[in-house]
Amino acid sequence: MKRATRIALFALSFAGAAAVLWFRPWRSDPLLDVPSGLGPPAGRATGPSVVLVIGCSIRADQVPPAGGHPLVTPFLATFAEEAAWFGDVIGVSPWTRPSIAALVSGRTPRSLGLEQEGPGPNHRRIPEDATLLAERFRDLGYRTAGVSTNPNATASFGFAQGFERWSEGAIEAKVAGTDAVSRLFDLADALPGPRFLQIILADAHEPFAEEPEEVRLFRKLPAASSDMARYRVGLRHFDQALALLDRGLADRGTAGDTWLVVVSDHGEGLAFPPGIGRGHGRSLAPPILETLVAVWGPAVEPRRIGGLASSLDVAPTVLGLAGLSDDAGPGFDLSPLVRTGLGDAPRSTVFAETTWARVDRAALYTPTRYCQRDFGEEVGSEPASRFAPGCCERRADPACKRPQRDLELEALLSAQREAGRAAAGSPVEAAVSAELAARVEAYGYQERDRAGEGK
Ligand SMILES: [Zn+2]
Repeated sequence: MKRATRIALFALSFAGAAAVLWFRPWRSDPLLDVPSGLGPPAGRATGPSVVLVIGCSIRADQVPPAGGHPLVTPFLATFAEEAAWFGDVIGVSPWTRPSIAALVSGRTPRSLGLEQEGPGPNHRRIPEDATLLAERFRDLGYRTAGVSTNPNATASFGFAQGFERWSEGAIEAKVAGTDAVSRLFDLADALPGPRFLQIILADAHEPFAEEPEEVRLFRKLPAASSDMARYRVGLRHFDQALALLDRGLADRGTAGDTWLVVVSDHGEGLAFPPGIGRGHGRSLAPPILETLVAVWGPAVEPRRIGGLASSLDVAPTVLGLAGLSDDAGPGFDLSPLVRTGLGDAPRSTVFAETTWARVDRAALYTPTRYCQRDFGEEVGSEPASRFAPGCCERRADPACKRPQRDLELEALLSAQREAGRAAAGSPVEAAVSAELAARVEAYGYQERDRAGEGK
């Protein structure tokens, strides 16, 4: 074979390989429809539609209405002025799977069997006998559709339960929020009548899909470390997805009869303020657990709702907005606070915990303070700046650098943890392919030990 021929063949095979790569299915369609086997529900609902947006790693103090920079999230900055929002909601877990499970079930991750003490990886799923929001709405005669872009909140882990139509990110791809919103409308447009729609957006969750130009832009804003700049690009993409969702509802003429609820599952450390780690999963500090919960809808009274709430209150409140009461507990239906424009959230404490890799930590929040303790093997193994047992002022000392003893609160923390353990649900292991396990790993989860990063 002549050299020129060899080169030509090589070039052809290279082009062929490139074409194969280019046309790999995930490149053209990063979302996969998962068949549900569900038909239309038996009855037909009469209530308003509800859209629940769960933004992964949306740190409450970095977005409106609570904070953030209007150039980062211009849509939310305007939209927030028309919202009723809860000023102090504490998430019950600092990472996606247990946190979103709590949001969509109103039950603690422990009661769902999702907490795993000791080393991972944790591949536990929501048990089939748990009742999720979509199932509750379906029982009422709602049509249900959901999209998830986070590999930890997929059908494999039980999150598609109750959805007549469900689509999730293909394992290989990070899905843009705007693509996910388009798919949600594709799924929902075929469903007449009142609908419960749910979308999980991971734009602000690593791995980030930012352009260098975007990062440079956001580095010019105040308080922008390189971490914060990259994170802000994620927030911008999340904001673009919300704008597309809002426009889509308006274009379809359904916005006037739809509740839109936007929540976050947990925050992100970003080493901000100093002493807070970078990521999430291990830490129970305020930047990780303070959660966005904002509501728009028919006759909403725009305001900041005072008082302390738990992410366990989200599911009963969402049901309450549609006129369904849920007294099963442990969450509270706070929809009257949204509707009437009166009153505060009622809690005096909120309990949170994480059994991340080898850490086994719990925290108890009050409106002004939080106490934390590590019950696992990592006690004393991390620098004191990363984890200090005791109680701290949430505002003055968010990284808990100067812990104080508070025997009463610490006893309550231990008692709530023990009560939860005594009522723990049986664990159910998900069938996790090697590909899904790798994808979950790429999102920074599981056994990767990031003690130095305060994960
Ligand atoms: Zn998450």
